[in-house]
Amino acid sequence: METPRRLMIIGLDGATWDVLDRWIVDGTLPNLARLRAEGSWGALRSTIPPITAAAWSTFMTGKRPSKHGVYHFINLFGSNGDGDGDANGEGELVSARSLKAPALWDILGHQDRKVLLVNIPLTYPPRPVNGVMVTGLLTPRNAPVFTYPAELSKEITDYKIDLDRFVDKTPFVDAIDGEIAAPTLTLVDEFRDMLEKRARVTLSLMNSQPWDFFMVVFIGTDRMGHYLWEYQSGKACDRPEAQQLCRAVRDYYIRLDEIVGELFHQAGDDVPTIVMSDHGMGPKHTKRVHINNWLRDHGWLKAIGQNGHVANPDGWIKRLGLSRDKIGRIVHKLPGMATSRLVKKAAAAAAQQVDFAGSKAFAIAIFNHIFGIRINATGNERDQVRAEITRALRELTDPRTGLKLVEHIYRGEDYYAGPFAQNVPDMIVMLHPDYGGSYRLGRYSSYVTELQAHTHRGNHRMEGVFIARGPQVAPRATPLPDLDIEDIAPTALHLMGLPVPEDMDGRVLSEILTPEARQQPVQTGAPAVEFWTNKDAGGFQDEVMSAEDEQEIRERLEALGYIE
Ligand SMILES: [Zn+2]
Repeated sequence: METPRRLMIIGLDGATWDVLDRWIVDGTLPNLARLRAEGSWGALRSTIPPITAAAWSTFMTGKRPSKHGVYHFINLFGSNGDGDGDANGEGELVSARSLKAPALWDILGHQDRKVLLVNIPLTYPPRPVNGVMVTGLLTPRNAPVFTYPAELSKEITDYKIDLDRFVDKTPFVDAIDGEIAAPTLTLVDEFRDMLEKRARVTLSLMNSQPWDFFMVVFIGTDRMGHYLWEYQSGKACDRPEAQQLCRAVRDYYIRLDEIVGELFHQAGDDVPTIVMSDHGMGPKHTKRVHINNWLRDHGWLKAIGQNGHVANPDGWIKRLGLSRDKIGRIVHKLPGMATSRLVKKAAAAAAQQVDFAGSKAFAIAIFNHIFGIRINATGNERDQVRAEITRALRELTDPRTGLKLVEHIYRGEDYYAGPFAQNVPDMIVMLHPDYGGSYRLGRYSSYVTELQAHTHRGNHRMEGVFIARGPQVAPRATPLPDLDIEDIAPTALHLMGLPVPEDMDGRVLSEILTPEARQQPVQTGAPAVEFWTNKDAGGFQDEVMSAEDEQEIRERLEALGYIE
């Protein structure tokens, strides 16, 4: 069997089997069904945190954030070490400049393979590639140059990188959950329009540009997940008034599936094809775990002033026999209370402050149901404290259901190894995804409390999707386990008959290969250290991002709930 020289990757941002599977099984998505039936597939484990910026960076480099430097949309683990980094949205926004390791298309360029790349997140500002690139998420709305080569930007008209509705200031100032992000037919129409424009430009580039490696990412699936989770998961669809919206969401996926079919047809049956997502999606968490309260009450965390007298701004709530979550329930039942003196006082009351230096351990936000724990100790003492906290966390349950809440605990240095691991926390803890981390020290009725607001929205999950199909790939009826997002780049290089750089964290997914293809040994190559360029192409193709651009993108990310 001759090793194919070409390969295609179709990225469906935030796609999950929880949505695709039932539509594949009932015939609604025939093209994805065919690819899956004729290929190997499974749930694709995202990176930590399972957020677009970090996940696509891990995909494109085959390395974890500790080797490519992008942990989040903002500087997550801060270099000031006194607590969490900038999960609260401060700090510089990432861009393609933030990526410190060469991407798959750099490696392919060095192997004289032509690449065609469309809408891959974190590729703005565009930089030289051995072929053509149209940048993706985080491209400022009016960026004059969003392609490589630059002149292509003038030819691409009537094209949308992301929806503008989230950045038009005035409406935005209103609550995110207000008008702007409300699940409406118009919102789905706008996603559909963006999809059609993307497909038209992509298919025309596939036709006009030479390529060995072609990749396109569709982001509508992520937005659907965030704003219309209940309508795409089907949960809302038994409600008569939701029927129309459910049909519109389903029609969006039917059209997306048709486009996948057109891309597949365009590429040709013998071209290995990978369909993947950077992370999955699921209902937004409905409960919170007040982890710093838990660490305080177990003696690892100290609150400011905890030498005999603890400054406890929530003391008055206690004297009233209330708790913050109880006040939340009252407000939820009596919306008028939201503006009451009681609630204003509770909201304004500064929480007990964490004594970062004086604590043995404290928790920091990473993403949704994932948090980090920093330990103020080194060597054996650190390992001992970590072992004690791990034992206690394993016993952390939801008092109402007895459900054990902790699903995974990693040692920071085990999950994150590499030149950009300086500030990673000592422990990384993954809760059940229906439980979000809460870091405020305050008076709550339990370590686990309900969120008041019911929402139709979704949020990211670790489990995305993966399908591989092609001459070297064995068809499988059942899903494969243990597929990681960092495995895609090594596997793609191997499928294209190219060596895999030895410094990649990912592995070649040999379990997807036919017995014949498995005869082909995996070649290991030199570490991937060089970005691709050619002498006349120069570096990044942009003027530095203006403050307005940066503000606009920050508002987009806020609207998605990625940063606060
Ligand atoms: Zn994403």
